[in-house]
Amino acid sequence: MLIFETVSALQNYLTKNNFLSIGFVPTMGALHQGHLSLIEKAQHENELTVCSIFVNPTQFNKQEDLIKYPRNVPNDVVLLKSVITKNVVLFLPSVQEIYPKKSNKKYYFNSLSEVMEAQHRPGHFDGVAMVIERFLEIINPTNAYFGEKDFQQLAVVRALVNQLNSAVKIVGCPIVRAQSGLAMSSRNERLSESQKELATKIFEVLCFAKQHAKKMSIKNIKQHIIKTLAATNSITLEYFELADGNTLKSIINWEDSSYCVAFIAVHIGGVRLIDNMTLFNDF
Ligand code: AMP
Repeated sequence: MLIFETVSALQNYLTKNNFLSIGFVPTMGALHQGHLSLIEKAQHENELTVCSIFVNPTQFNKQEDLIKYPRNVPNDVVLLKSVITKNVVLFLPSVQEIYPKKSNKKYYFNSLSEVMEAQHRPGHFDGVAMVIERFLEIINPTNAYFGEKDFQQLAVVRALVNQLNSAVKIVGCPIVRAQSGLAMSSRNERLSESQKELATKIFEVLCFAKQHAKKMSIKNIKQHIIKTLAATNSITLEYFELADGNTLKSIINWEDSSYCVAFIAVHIGGVRLIDNMTLFNDF
């Protein structure tokens, strides 16, 4: 597997080979099965797959979170090699390569910029949009792959590509979960075994919401979930929202939307975890 550390080296390679299609999978490393599922899909659908590993400093609203973010490039290389069936290259740029000039560009994506992750992590999506815009400019991929695990991010990226009038196709990929139901995440590496077990409550409460959608009032579902998590004494709920899957605007009554997604963010022992589940999509 070829590894490129500079923009010019990657671009020289892409120009020389003139691939029919390029699939791009941006990641921040500490790879797991969730990331690998994106790589596998990209390989199926493109002549070349470019995977990037870049812990993007502009999307961290807390310096401490950036410092503690898990990094293990040698292990990532082993994992990537284990799923290669076609052309895959790894792009491992430095901060200087991605941001040669300091920028604090601001983006606006209507309601997507105002709710949930945008509200709780100010500036986060400006950083995400900034890095994705830069990667698209460098790689000019045919398709780019994003996990539904970061549902709001996927929506923001779709909105960004619209704003940029970019021809890249954004492909959403399903959430990969551990057998316990816990959504795979690089941040899970920071949890102890008992905290991981506790974290399965996140999946449990999402399943509860799905089972009781349209049968119980939204207010009662929320109350039940708040109580269930509080009873653990170790999970701090940041938000639990039911929102329209397109606009991400909050749903107050079941009739407010025909595409309803439950979103959750919690803290367990200083680790922030997010997850989501589609409750119904009647389209
Ligand atoms: P990250 O390295 O966390 O920035 O994630 C890189 C990409 O992998 C993003 O598009 C994520 O949504 C996606 N991803 C992360 N975890 C999962 C998962 N459990 N299932 C599917 N996709 C995931």
